[in-house]
Amino acid sequence: MAWNMVLSKVMTVLWLLTTVVTRAQSYSYLRPPKDLASKFSRDPKTISLASSDFGQLVHKTPKAVFEPCSVDDISALISFSNSLPTPFTIATRGQAHSVSGQALTRDGVVLNMTHLNYGFYGSRIVVACDGKSAWGCYADVGGEQLWIDVLNATLKHGLSPLAWTDYLYLTVGGTLSNAGINGGAFRLGPQISNVLELHVVTGKGEFVTCSPDKNSEIFYAVLGGLGQFGVITRARIPLRPAPTNSRRVHLLYSDFTAFTRDQEYIISFNERNDNSAADFLEGHLLLTQLALELSFYPTADKPRITSLVTKHGIIYVLQLVKYFDKNSEARVKQDIENLIKGFNYIPTFKFAQDEVYVDFLQRVHTAELFIDPLGLWNVPHPWLNVFVPKSRIVEFNEGVFRGIVVEQNVTSQAGLYLVYPMNRNKWDDRMSAVTPDEDIFYSVNFFNFATSGFKLAKKFQVQNQLTLQFCKDAGIEIKEYLPSKKTHQEWVEHFGPKWKLFEDRKAEFDPNRILSPGQRIFQ
Ligand code: FAD
Repeated sequence: MAWNMVLSKVMTVLWLLTTVVTRAQSYSYLRPPKDLASKFSRDPKTISLASSDFGQLVHKTPKAVFEPCSVDDISALISFSNSLPTPFTIATRGQAHSVSGQALTRDGVVLNMTHLNYGFYGSRIVVACDGKSAWGCYADVGGEQLWIDVLNATLKHGLSPLAWTDYLYLTVGGTLSNAGINGGAFRLGPQISNVLELHVVTGKGEFVTCSPDKNSEIFYAVLGGLGQFGVITRARIPLRPAPTNSRRVHLLYSDFTAFTRDQEYIISFNERNDNSAADFLEGHLLLTQLALELSFYPTADKPRITSLVTKHGIIYVLQLVKYFDKNSEARVKQDIENLIKGFNYIPTFKFAQDEVYVDFLQRVHTAELFIDPLGLWNVPHPWLNVFVPKSRIVEFNEGVFRGIVVEQNVTSQAGLYLVYPMNRNKWDDRMSAVTPDEDIFYSVNFFNFATSGFKLAKKFQVQNQLTLQFCKDAGIEIKEYLPSKKTHQEWVEHFGPKWKLFEDRKAEFDPNRILSPGQRIFQ
Protein backbone atom coordinates (compact mmCIF):
# COMPACT_ATOMS: atom_id res chain seq x y z
CA MET A 1 0.00 0.00 0.00
CA ALA A 2 2.76 2.38 1.09
CA TRP A 3 4.70 1.54 -2.07
CA ASN A 4 1.64 2.28 -4.14
CA MET A 5 1.36 5.71 -2.56
CA VAL A 6 5.03 6.44 -3.14
CA LEU A 7 4.74 5.32 -6.75
CA SER A 8 1.67 7.45 -7.28
CA LYS A 9 3.46 10.51 -5.77
CA VAL A 10 6.50 9.91 -8.00
CA MET A 11 4.23 9.64 -11.06
CA THR A 12 2.49 12.90 -10.15
CA VAL A 13 5.80 14.72 -9.75
CA LEU A 14 7.05 13.31 -13.05
CA TRP A 15 3.83 14.40 -14.79
CA LEU A 16 4.16 17.90 -13.34
CA LEU A 17 7.79 18.12 -14.43
CA THR A 18 6.95 16.95 -17.96
CA THR A 19 4.13 19.48 -18.21
CA VAL A 20 6.36 22.31 -16.99
CA VAL A 21 9.18 21.37 -19.41
CA THR A 22 6.79 20.99 -22.38
CA ARG A 23 5.12 24.30 -21.57
CA ALA A 24 8.51 25.97 -21.17
CA GLN A 25 9.57 24.57 -24.55
CA SER A 26 6.38 25.48 -26.33
CA TYR A 27 6.40 28.98 -24.93
CA SER A 28 10.10 29.55 -25.49
CA TYR A 29 9.36 31.26 -28.81
CA LEU A 30 7.76 33.98 -26.80
CA ARG A 31 11.37 34.88 -26.06
CA PRO A 32 12.80 35.22 -29.57
CA PRO A 33 16.18 36.80 -30.32
CA LYS A 34 16.21 40.56 -29.81
CA ASP A 35 16.16 41.51 -33.52
CA LEU A 36 13.05 39.37 -34.10
CA ALA A 37 11.19 40.14 -30.90
CA SER A 38 9.67 43.42 -32.06
CA LYS A 39 8.15 41.69 -35.10
CA PHE A 40 5.92 39.39 -33.06
CA SER A 41 2.52 40.86 -32.34
CA ARG A 42 0.28 39.61 -29.55
CA ASP A 43 -2.17 42.45 -29.85
CA PRO A 44 -5.65 40.89 -29.28
CA LYS A 45 -7.11 42.51 -32.40
CA THR A 46 -4.27 41.22 -34.60
CA ILE A 47 -4.55 37.75 -33.06
CA SER A 48 -8.31 37.74 -33.55
CA LEU A 49 -7.97 38.70 -37.25
CA ALA A 50 -5.44 35.92 -37.78
CA SER A 51 -7.74 33.33 -36.14
CA SER A 52 -10.26 33.05 -38.96
CA ASP A 53 -10.54 33.10 -42.74
CA PHE A 54 -12.95 33.89 -45.58
CA GLY A 55 -14.88 30.68 -44.89
CA GLN A 56 -15.71 31.73 -41.29
CA LEU A 57 -16.21 28.07 -40.40
CA VAL A 58 -12.84 27.25 -38.82
CA HIS A 59 -11.27 29.22 -35.98
CA LYS A 60 -7.79 28.67 -34.56
CA THR A 61 -6.00 31.05 -32.26
CA PRO A 62 -2.28 31.48 -32.87
CA LYS A 63 0.11 32.38 -30.08
CA ALA A 64 1.46 35.32 -32.08
CA VAL A 65 1.44 37.00 -35.47
CA PHE A 66 4.80 37.65 -37.11
CA GLU A 67 5.07 40.87 -39.12
CA PRO A 68 8.10 40.67 -41.41
CA CYS A 69 9.73 43.75 -42.92
CA SER A 70 11.99 41.75 -45.23
CA VAL A 71 12.61 38.30 -46.67
CA ASP A 72 15.52 38.00 -44.21
CA ASP A 73 12.99 38.32 -41.38
CA ILE A 74 11.07 35.33 -42.78
CA SER A 75 14.29 33.33 -42.97
CA ALA A 76 15.17 34.29 -39.41
CA LEU A 77 11.70 33.34 -38.14
CA ILE A 78 11.85 29.88 -39.70
CA SER A 79 15.44 29.31 -38.51
CA PHE A 80 14.46 30.39 -35.01
CA SER A 81 11.60 27.90 -34.90
CA ASN A 82 13.89 25.12 -36.14
CA SER A 83 16.45 25.97 -33.45
CA LEU A 84 14.02 25.16 -30.63
CA PRO A 85 13.70 21.71 -29.04
CA THR A 86 10.01 21.85 -30.00
CA PRO A 87 9.73 24.01 -33.11
CA PHE A 88 6.51 26.02 -33.42
CA THR A 89 4.31 25.81 -36.50
CA ILE A 90 4.15 28.71 -38.97
CA ALA A 91 1.03 29.44 -41.03
CA THR A 92 1.87 31.63 -44.01
CA ARG A 93 -1.07 33.95 -44.51
CA GLY A 94 -1.75 35.78 -47.77
CA GLN A 95 -5.27 37.22 -47.60
CA ALA A 96 -6.72 34.18 -45.79
CA HIS A 97 -9.21 33.84 -48.62
CA SER A 98 -9.16 30.13 -47.92
CA VAL A 99 -12.38 28.64 -46.58
CA SER A 100 -11.30 25.69 -44.43
CA GLY A 101 -8.60 27.06 -42.13
CA GLN A 102 -5.70 26.45 -44.54
CA ALA A 103 -3.95 29.67 -43.45
CA LEU A 104 -4.51 29.16 -39.70
CA THR A 105 -2.54 27.60 -36.84
CA ARG A 106 -3.54 26.74 -33.31
CA ASP A 107 -0.83 27.82 -30.85
CA GLY A 108 1.71 28.47 -33.60
CA VAL A 109 2.70 31.69 -35.36
CA VAL A 110 0.84 33.28 -38.27
CA LEU A 111 3.26 34.80 -40.78
CA ASN A 112 1.46 37.89 -42.09
CA MET A 113 2.84 38.24 -45.62
CA THR A 114 1.00 41.52 -46.21
CA HIS A 115 3.37 43.19 -43.79
CA LEU A 116 6.21 42.89 -46.33
CA ASN A 117 4.57 45.83 -48.08
CA TYR A 118 5.58 48.07 -45.20
CA GLY A 119 9.25 47.09 -45.02
CA PHE A 120 10.56 47.83 -48.48
CA TYR A 121 11.58 51.03 -50.12
CA GLY A 122 10.10 51.00 -53.60
CA SER A 123 7.64 48.68 -55.21
CA ARG A 124 7.48 44.92 -54.77
CA ILE A 125 6.17 44.73 -58.36
CA VAL A 126 8.84 45.38 -60.97
CA VAL A 127 8.20 45.10 -64.71
CA ALA A 128 11.14 44.30 -66.99
CA CYS A 129 11.82 43.11 -70.51
CA ASP A 130 14.75 40.86 -71.44
CA GLY A 131 13.51 39.27 -74.65
CA LYS A 132 13.87 35.76 -73.16
CA SER A 133 10.27 34.79 -72.34
CA ALA A 134 7.66 34.33 -75.08
CA TRP A 135 6.72 38.00 -75.27
CA GLY A 136 10.02 39.17 -73.82
CA CYS A 137 8.64 40.83 -70.67
CA TYR A 138 7.92 39.73 -67.13
CA ALA A 139 6.96 41.08 -63.71
CA ASP A 140 8.90 40.28 -60.55
CA VAL A 141 6.26 40.34 -57.83
CA GLY A 142 6.33 39.75 -54.08
CA GLY A 143 4.48 36.62 -52.92
CA GLU A 144 2.31 38.86 -50.76
CA GLN A 145 1.13 41.02 -53.68
CA LEU A 146 -2.48 40.98 -54.82
CA TRP A 147 -3.16 40.02 -58.43
CA ILE A 148 -5.20 43.21 -58.84
CA ASP A 149 -2.07 45.22 -57.99
CA VAL A 150 -0.03 43.15 -60.43
CA LEU A 151 -2.63 43.89 -63.12
CA ASN A 152 -2.63 47.63 -62.42
CA ALA A 153 1.18 47.83 -62.38
CA THR A 154 1.64 45.90 -65.63
CA LEU A 155 -1.13 47.76 -67.46
CA LYS A 156 0.90 50.94 -67.02
CA HIS A 157 3.34 49.32 -69.49
CA GLY A 158 0.56 48.10 -71.78
CA LEU A 159 1.21 44.55 -70.53
CA SER A 160 -0.71 41.89 -68.64
CA PRO A 161 -0.12 38.46 -67.06
CA LEU A 162 -1.61 35.60 -69.06
CA ALA A 163 -3.31 33.43 -66.45
CA TRP A 164 -5.91 34.60 -63.96
CA THR A 165 -8.29 33.59 -61.24
CA ASP A 166 -11.87 34.92 -61.36
CA TYR A 167 -11.19 37.12 -58.34
CA LEU A 168 -8.07 39.28 -58.13
CA TYR A 169 -7.92 40.18 -54.43
CA LEU A 170 -5.88 37.03 -53.78
CA THR A 171 -2.13 36.94 -53.22
CA VAL A 172 0.37 35.64 -55.73
CA GLY A 173 1.82 33.21 -53.13
CA GLY A 174 -1.66 32.02 -52.12
CA THR A 175 -2.85 31.11 -55.62
CA LEU A 176 0.51 29.62 -56.68
CA SER A 177 0.32 27.35 -53.61
CA ASN A 178 -2.91 25.93 -55.04
CA ALA A 179 -2.96 26.31 -58.85
CA GLY A 180 -4.80 29.52 -59.77
CA ILE A 181 -7.49 28.56 -62.27
CA ASN A 182 -10.27 30.07 -64.33
CA GLY A 183 -11.77 29.84 -67.78
CA GLY A 184 -8.46 30.74 -69.42
CA ALA A 185 -6.73 27.60 -68.10
CA PHE A 186 -7.88 25.34 -70.97
CA ARG A 187 -5.56 27.26 -73.29
CA LEU A 188 -2.83 28.87 -71.15
CA GLY A 189 -2.84 26.49 -68.20
CA PRO A 190 -3.31 27.41 -64.54
CA GLN A 191 -1.24 30.21 -63.00
CA ILE A 192 1.31 27.63 -61.80
CA SER A 193 2.05 26.85 -65.46
CA ASN A 194 2.85 30.52 -66.03
CA VAL A 195 5.79 31.16 -63.71
CA LEU A 196 9.37 31.66 -64.87
CA GLU A 197 11.23 31.77 -61.57
CA LEU A 198 10.58 31.87 -57.82
CA HIS A 199 12.26 33.04 -54.66
CA VAL A 200 11.48 30.66 -51.82
CA VAL A 201 12.44 30.48 -48.15
CA THR A 202 12.31 26.76 -47.38
CA GLY A 203 11.08 25.16 -44.17
CA LYS A 204 14.75 25.01 -43.14
CA GLY A 205 15.02 28.79 -43.42
CA GLU A 206 17.18 28.67 -46.56
CA PHE A 207 16.65 31.30 -49.26
CA VAL A 208 16.57 29.75 -52.75
CA THR A 209 16.18 31.12 -56.27
CA CYS A 210 14.57 28.42 -58.38
CA SER A 211 13.20 27.79 -61.86
CA PRO A 212 12.76 24.83 -64.23
CA ASP A 213 16.53 24.98 -64.82
CA LYS A 214 17.83 25.91 -61.38
CA ASN A 215 16.95 24.15 -58.10
CA SER A 216 14.04 22.68 -60.02
CA GLU A 217 12.97 20.28 -57.23
CA ILE A 218 11.86 23.08 -54.90
CA PHE A 219 10.42 25.05 -57.86
CA TYR A 220 8.07 22.19 -58.79
CA ALA A 221 7.42 21.32 -55.13
CA VAL A 222 6.02 24.71 -54.11
CA LEU A 223 3.81 25.15 -57.20
CA GLY A 224 0.53 23.66 -56.01
CA GLY A 225 2.38 22.60 -52.84
CA LEU A 226 -0.24 23.97 -50.38
CA GLY A 227 2.46 25.97 -48.59
CA GLN A 228 4.16 22.79 -47.32
CA PHE A 229 7.72 23.28 -48.51
CA GLY A 230 8.56 26.94 -48.33
CA VAL A 231 7.36 30.51 -48.36
CA ILE A 232 7.11 32.05 -51.85
CA THR A 233 8.60 35.50 -51.46
CA ARG A 234 8.84 36.46 -55.13
CA ALA A 235 7.53 35.14 -58.44
CA ARG A 236 8.59 36.03 -61.98
CA ILE A 237 5.39 36.15 -64.05
CA PRO A 238 5.51 36.28 -67.88
CA LEU A 239 3.62 39.14 -69.51
CA ARG A 240 2.07 39.78 -72.89
CA PRO A 241 0.59 42.85 -74.56
CA ALA A 242 -2.65 43.65 -72.75
CA PRO A 243 -5.85 43.54 -74.78
CA THR A 244 -8.09 46.55 -74.28
CA ASN A 245 -11.52 44.91 -74.53
CA SER A 246 -13.37 41.65 -74.28
CA ARG A 247 -16.45 40.24 -75.98
CA ARG A 248 -18.46 37.94 -73.74
CA VAL A 249 -21.10 35.56 -75.10
CA HIS A 250 -23.63 33.55 -73.08
CA LEU A 251 -25.41 30.56 -74.62
CA LEU A 252 -28.21 28.93 -72.61
CA TYR A 253 -28.83 25.16 -72.60
CA SER A 254 -31.36 22.85 -70.99
CA ASP A 255 -29.56 19.74 -72.29
CA PHE A 256 -26.41 19.01 -70.28
CA THR A 257 -24.93 16.66 -72.90
CA ALA A 258 -25.20 19.32 -75.62
CA PHE A 259 -23.76 21.91 -73.21
CA THR A 260 -20.65 19.84 -72.38
CA ARG A 261 -20.18 18.71 -76.00
CA ASP A 262 -20.08 22.34 -77.12
CA GLN A 263 -17.77 23.32 -74.24
CA GLU A 264 -15.38 20.52 -75.17
CA TYR A 265 -15.42 21.63 -78.80
CA ILE A 266 -14.30 25.12 -77.77
CA ILE A 267 -11.40 23.85 -75.66
CA SER A 268 -10.19 21.66 -78.52
CA PHE A 269 -8.76 24.89 -80.00
CA ASN A 270 -6.13 25.49 -77.38
CA GLU A 271 -2.85 26.49 -78.99
CA ARG A 272 -1.40 29.60 -77.37
CA ASN A 273 -0.79 31.27 -80.72
CA ASP A 274 -4.10 30.30 -82.36
CA ASN A 275 -5.71 33.73 -82.71
CA SER A 276 -9.07 32.30 -83.69
CA ALA A 277 -9.42 30.26 -80.44
CA ALA A 278 -11.46 31.45 -77.45
CA ASP A 279 -9.57 33.17 -74.62
CA PHE A 280 -11.88 32.02 -71.87
CA LEU A 281 -14.51 29.36 -71.37
CA GLU A 282 -16.56 28.78 -68.27
CA GLY A 283 -20.06 27.52 -67.59
CA HIS A 284 -22.49 28.02 -64.76
CA LEU A 285 -25.85 26.86 -63.51
CA LEU A 286 -28.96 28.99 -63.30
CA LEU A 287 -31.04 27.60 -60.44
CA THR A 288 -34.14 28.96 -58.74
CA GLN A 289 -32.77 28.26 -55.25
CA LEU A 290 -29.71 30.52 -55.71
CA ALA A 291 -30.99 34.07 -56.29
CA LEU A 292 -30.99 34.30 -60.09
CA GLU A 293 -28.13 36.59 -61.07
CA LEU A 294 -29.28 37.98 -64.41
CA SER A 295 -27.44 41.31 -64.57
CA PHE A 296 -25.69 40.26 -67.79
CA TYR A 297 -28.96 40.04 -69.73
CA PRO A 298 -31.11 42.77 -71.27
CA THR A 299 -34.00 43.73 -68.96
CA ALA A 300 -36.55 42.71 -71.58
CA ASP A 301 -35.17 39.15 -71.65
CA LYS A 302 -35.04 38.51 -67.92
CA PRO A 303 -38.68 37.25 -67.58
CA ARG A 304 -38.27 34.64 -70.34
CA ILE A 305 -34.96 33.45 -68.82
CA THR A 306 -36.62 33.12 -65.42
CA SER A 307 -39.47 31.10 -66.96
CA LEU A 308 -36.93 28.83 -68.63
CA VAL A 309 -35.22 28.10 -65.31
CA THR A 310 -38.56 27.43 -63.62
CA LYS A 311 -39.54 25.08 -66.43
CA HIS A 312 -36.33 23.03 -66.51
CA GLY A 313 -35.07 23.26 -62.92
CA ILE A 314 -31.56 23.96 -64.18
CA ILE A 315 -30.30 26.00 -67.12
CA TYR A 316 -26.65 25.62 -68.11
CA VAL A 317 -24.89 28.76 -69.32
CA LEU A 318 -21.89 28.45 -71.61
CA GLN A 319 -19.75 31.57 -71.22
CA LEU A 320 -17.19 32.27 -73.91
CA VAL A 321 -14.89 35.28 -74.10
CA LYS A 322 -12.50 36.65 -76.67
CA TYR A 323 -10.21 39.57 -76.02
CA PHE A 324 -9.49 42.23 -78.59
CA ASP A 325 -7.97 45.61 -79.24
CA LYS A 326 -8.53 48.08 -82.05
CA ASN A 327 -6.51 45.97 -84.50
CA SER A 328 -8.49 42.79 -83.91
CA GLU A 329 -11.94 44.24 -83.15
CA ALA A 330 -13.38 43.64 -86.61
CA ARG A 331 -12.25 40.01 -86.66
CA VAL A 332 -13.43 38.94 -83.20
CA LYS A 333 -17.17 38.75 -83.88
CA GLN A 334 -16.54 36.53 -86.89
CA ASP A 335 -14.15 34.29 -84.93
CA ILE A 336 -16.83 33.75 -82.29
CA GLU A 337 -19.50 33.01 -84.88
CA ASN A 338 -17.18 30.45 -86.48
CA LEU A 339 -16.54 28.81 -83.12
CA ILE A 340 -20.20 28.43 -82.13
CA LYS A 341 -21.58 27.53 -85.55
CA GLY A 342 -23.83 24.46 -85.19
CA PHE A 343 -24.00 24.66 -81.39
CA ASN A 344 -27.12 23.26 -79.73
CA TYR A 345 -28.11 26.01 -77.31
CA ILE A 346 -31.78 26.92 -76.94
CA PRO A 347 -32.60 28.97 -80.05
CA THR A 348 -32.86 32.73 -79.37
CA PHE A 349 -31.05 32.37 -76.03
CA LYS A 350 -27.75 33.81 -77.12
CA PHE A 351 -26.51 37.05 -75.53
CA ALA A 352 -23.36 39.10 -76.03
CA GLN A 353 -21.72 42.08 -74.42
CA ASP A 354 -18.50 44.01 -74.98
CA GLU A 355 -16.64 45.40 -72.01
CA VAL A 356 -13.28 46.85 -71.10
CA TYR A 357 -10.66 44.11 -70.41
CA VAL A 358 -10.14 45.22 -66.80
CA ASP A 359 -13.89 45.28 -66.13
CA PHE A 360 -14.17 41.71 -67.32
CA LEU A 361 -11.27 40.61 -65.07
CA GLN A 362 -12.83 42.51 -62.18
CA ARG A 363 -16.35 41.06 -62.54
CA VAL A 364 -16.32 39.13 -59.24
CA HIS A 365 -15.10 42.19 -57.37
CA THR A 366 -17.91 44.19 -59.00
CA ALA A 367 -20.36 41.62 -57.61
CA GLU A 368 -18.65 41.90 -54.21
CA LEU A 369 -19.12 45.67 -54.21
CA PHE A 370 -22.78 45.15 -55.00
CA ILE A 371 -23.64 42.49 -52.40
CA ASP A 372 -21.31 43.53 -49.58
CA PRO A 373 -23.41 46.54 -48.49
CA LEU A 374 -26.41 44.18 -48.44
CA GLY A 375 -24.61 42.01 -45.87
CA LEU A 376 -24.36 39.09 -48.28
CA TRP A 377 -20.58 38.88 -48.87
CA ASN A 378 -19.12 38.63 -45.39
CA VAL A 379 -20.98 35.45 -44.40
CA PRO A 380 -19.94 31.80 -43.87
CA HIS A 381 -18.71 30.11 -47.07
CA PRO A 382 -19.10 26.33 -47.10
CA TRP A 383 -17.47 25.90 -50.52
CA LEU A 384 -16.65 22.73 -52.39
CA ASN A 385 -14.35 22.62 -55.44
CA VAL A 386 -13.76 19.40 -57.31
CA PHE A 387 -12.17 18.27 -60.57
CA VAL A 388 -14.34 15.64 -62.28
CA PRO A 389 -13.03 13.37 -65.06
CA LYS A 390 -14.72 14.07 -68.40
CA SER A 391 -15.94 10.48 -68.76
CA ARG A 392 -18.12 10.84 -65.61
CA ILE A 393 -19.42 14.41 -65.93
CA VAL A 394 -22.85 13.40 -67.30
CA GLU A 395 -23.29 11.02 -64.37
CA PHE A 396 -22.18 13.83 -62.05
CA ASN A 397 -24.86 16.07 -63.51
CA GLU A 398 -27.57 13.46 -62.92
CA GLY A 399 -26.37 12.43 -59.48
CA VAL A 400 -25.23 15.76 -58.04
CA PHE A 401 -26.71 18.76 -59.88
CA ARG A 402 -30.10 17.12 -60.42
CA GLY A 403 -30.04 14.40 -57.78
CA ILE A 404 -28.61 16.33 -54.83
CA VAL A 405 -28.63 20.09 -55.50
CA VAL A 406 -32.14 20.29 -56.99
CA GLU A 407 -33.54 17.71 -54.58
CA GLN A 408 -32.02 19.27 -51.44
CA ASN A 409 -33.29 22.68 -52.59
CA VAL A 410 -31.08 24.67 -50.20
CA THR A 411 -31.91 28.30 -50.92
CA SER A 412 -29.67 31.32 -50.51
CA GLN A 413 -29.60 34.96 -51.54
CA ALA A 414 -26.20 34.62 -53.22
CA GLY A 415 -23.96 31.94 -54.67
CA LEU A 416 -22.65 30.55 -57.93
CA TYR A 417 -22.06 27.04 -59.29
CA LEU A 418 -19.47 26.74 -62.06
CA VAL A 419 -18.78 23.82 -64.37
CA TYR A 420 -16.20 23.98 -67.17
CA PRO A 421 -13.62 21.73 -68.81
CA MET A 422 -9.83 22.01 -68.89
CA ASN A 423 -7.05 20.28 -70.80
CA ARG A 424 -4.72 18.26 -68.60
CA ASN A 425 -1.76 18.75 -70.94
CA LYS A 426 -1.62 22.40 -69.82
CA TRP A 427 -0.64 21.19 -66.33
CA ASP A 428 2.89 20.10 -65.49
CA ASP A 429 2.93 16.80 -63.63
CA ARG A 430 6.23 17.60 -61.93
CA MET A 431 4.38 20.17 -59.83
CA SER A 432 2.65 19.21 -56.57
CA ALA A 433 -0.88 20.02 -57.82
CA VAL A 434 -3.02 17.00 -58.62
CA THR A 435 -5.71 16.50 -61.27
CA PRO A 436 -7.80 13.53 -62.44
CA ASP A 437 -6.07 11.14 -64.80
CA GLU A 438 -8.01 11.93 -67.98
CA ASP A 439 -6.96 14.30 -70.79
CA ILE A 440 -9.99 16.50 -70.09
CA PHE A 441 -11.48 17.14 -66.67
CA TYR A 442 -14.13 19.53 -65.38
CA SER A 443 -13.73 22.11 -62.66
CA VAL A 444 -16.93 22.13 -60.60
CA ASN A 445 -17.17 24.90 -58.04
CA PHE A 446 -19.92 25.23 -55.46
CA PHE A 447 -19.46 28.80 -54.27
CA ASN A 448 -22.05 28.67 -51.48
CA PHE A 449 -22.80 31.84 -49.54
CA ALA A 450 -24.67 31.08 -46.30
CA THR A 451 -26.41 34.43 -46.40
CA SER A 452 -28.65 33.72 -43.41
CA GLY A 453 -25.87 32.36 -41.20
CA PHE A 454 -24.58 29.14 -39.68
CA LYS A 455 -27.78 27.07 -39.89
CA LEU A 456 -27.75 27.54 -43.64
CA ALA A 457 -23.99 26.85 -43.72
CA LYS A 458 -24.71 23.49 -42.09
CA LYS A 459 -27.20 22.63 -44.85
CA PHE A 460 -24.63 23.42 -47.52
CA GLN A 461 -22.06 21.34 -45.66
CA VAL A 462 -24.49 18.42 -45.75
CA GLN A 463 -24.95 18.99 -49.51
CA ASN A 464 -21.15 19.00 -49.97
CA GLN A 465 -20.82 15.80 -47.97
CA LEU A 466 -23.56 14.10 -50.01
CA THR A 467 -21.74 15.15 -53.18
CA LEU A 468 -18.45 13.63 -52.03
CA GLN A 469 -20.23 10.48 -50.88
CA PHE A 470 -22.05 10.19 -54.21
CA CYS A 471 -18.73 10.34 -56.08
CA LYS A 472 -17.20 7.78 -53.74
CA ASP A 473 -20.12 5.36 -54.08
CA ALA A 474 -20.22 5.77 -57.86
CA GLY A 475 -16.44 5.32 -58.13
CA ILE A 476 -16.00 8.77 -59.75
CA GLU A 477 -12.35 9.60 -59.16
CA ILE A 478 -12.63 13.30 -58.42
CA LYS A 479 -9.81 15.44 -57.03
CA GLU A 480 -10.65 18.19 -54.60
CA TYR A 481 -9.28 21.61 -55.56
CA LEU A 482 -8.29 23.82 -52.57
CA PRO A 483 -8.59 20.54 -50.68
CA SER A 484 -9.55 20.22 -47.08
CA LYS A 485 -8.98 16.67 -45.89
CA LYS A 486 -9.37 15.30 -42.44
CA THR A 487 -7.38 12.11 -42.16
CA HIS A 488 -3.91 11.01 -43.19
CA GLN A 489 -5.44 8.31 -45.40
CA GLU A 490 -7.57 10.90 -47.22
CA TRP A 491 -4.43 12.91 -48.04
CA VAL A 492 -2.63 9.79 -49.26
CA GLU A 493 -5.60 9.07 -51.55
CA HIS A 494 -5.78 12.71 -52.67
CA PHE A 495 -2.17 12.73 -53.89
CA GLY A 496 -2.36 9.15 -55.18
CA PRO A 497 0.83 8.20 -57.04
CA LYS A 498 2.32 11.60 -56.05
CA TRP A 499 2.03 11.00 -52.31
CA LYS A 500 5.50 9.44 -51.92
CA LEU A 501 7.11 12.36 -53.76
CA PHE A 502 5.10 14.84 -51.69
CA GLU A 503 6.19 13.15 -48.46
CA ASP A 504 9.85 12.98 -49.59
CA ARG A 505 9.79 16.68 -50.52
CA LYS A 506 8.40 17.50 -47.08
CA ALA A 507 11.24 15.56 -45.44
CA GLU A 508 13.76 17.41 -47.59
CA PHE A 509 12.49 20.99 -47.44
CA ASP A 510 10.58 21.13 -44.14
CA PRO A 511 11.89 18.23 -42.04
CA ASN A 512 10.41 19.58 -38.80
CA ARG A 513 6.99 19.93 -40.44
CA ILE A 514 6.46 23.46 -39.30
CA LEU A 515 4.92 25.09 -42.41
CA SER A 516 1.20 25.47 -43.21
CA PRO A 517 -0.24 23.33 -40.40
CA GLY A 518 -3.74 24.55 -41.32
CA GLN A 519 -3.74 22.11 -44.25
CA ARG A 520 -3.55 19.27 -41.67
CA ILE A 521 -1.41 17.09 -43.93
CA PHE A 522 1.52 16.31 -41.65
CA GLN A 523 0.44 17.60 -38.24
P1 FAD B 1 -4.33 32.19 -48.06
O1 FAD B 1 -5.73 31.76 -47.87
O2 FAD B 1 -3.80 33.22 -47.16
O3 FAD B 1 -3.38 30.91 -48.02
C1 FAD B 1 -3.74 29.73 -48.70
C2 FAD B 1 -2.65 28.66 -48.48
O4 FAD B 1 -1.47 29.04 -49.15
C3 FAD B 1 -2.28 28.46 -47.01
O5 FAD B 1 -1.95 27.13 -46.79
C4 FAD B 1 -1.07 29.34 -46.87
O6 FAD B 1 -0.26 28.89 -45.82
C5 FAD B 1 -0.40 29.22 -48.22
N1 FAD B 1 0.31 30.44 -48.62
C6 FAD B 1 -0.18 31.70 -48.69
N2 FAD B 1 0.77 32.54 -49.13
C7 FAD B 1 1.88 31.80 -49.34
C8 FAD B 1 3.20 32.09 -49.78
N3 FAD B 1 3.58 33.32 -50.09
N4 FAD B 1 4.08 31.07 -49.88
C9 FAD B 1 3.73 29.79 -49.57
N5 FAD B 1 2.50 29.47 -49.13
C10 FAD B 1 1.58 30.45 -49.02
N6 FAD B 1 -8.99 30.20 -56.73
C11 FAD B 1 -8.79 29.91 -58.02
O7 FAD B 1 -7.89 29.15 -58.37
N7 FAD B 1 -9.57 30.49 -59.00
C12 FAD B 1 -10.55 31.37 -58.70
O8 FAD B 1 -11.19 31.88 -59.60
C13 FAD B 1 -10.77 31.69 -57.34
N8 FAD B 1 -11.71 32.59 -56.99
C14 FAD B 1 -11.87 32.92 -55.68
C15 FAD B 1 -12.82 33.88 -55.34
C16 FAD B 1 -12.99 34.27 -54.03
C17 FAD B 1 -14.02 35.29 -53.70
C18 FAD B 1 -12.21 33.65 -53.03
C19 FAD B 1 -12.40 34.03 -51.59
C20 FAD B 1 -11.26 32.68 -53.34
C21 FAD B 1 -11.09 32.31 -54.68
N9 FAD B 1 -10.16 31.35 -55.05
C22 FAD B 1 -9.96 31.06 -56.37
C23 FAD B 1 -9.42 30.57 -54.04
C24 FAD B 1 -8.07 31.15 -53.77
O9 FAD B 1 -7.21 31.02 -54.87
C25 FAD B 1 -7.40 30.41 -52.61
O10 FAD B 1 -8.24 30.43 -51.50
C26 FAD B 1 -6.09 31.05 -52.27
O11 FAD B 1 -5.41 30.26 -51.36
C27 FAD B 1 -6.36 32.38 -51.64
O12 FAD B 1 -5.20 33.15 -51.65
P2 FAD B 1 -4.78 33.89 -50.34
O13 FAD B 1 -3.74 34.79 -50.76
O14 FAD B 1 -5.88 34.46 -49.57
O15 FAD B 1 -4.13 32.62 -49.56
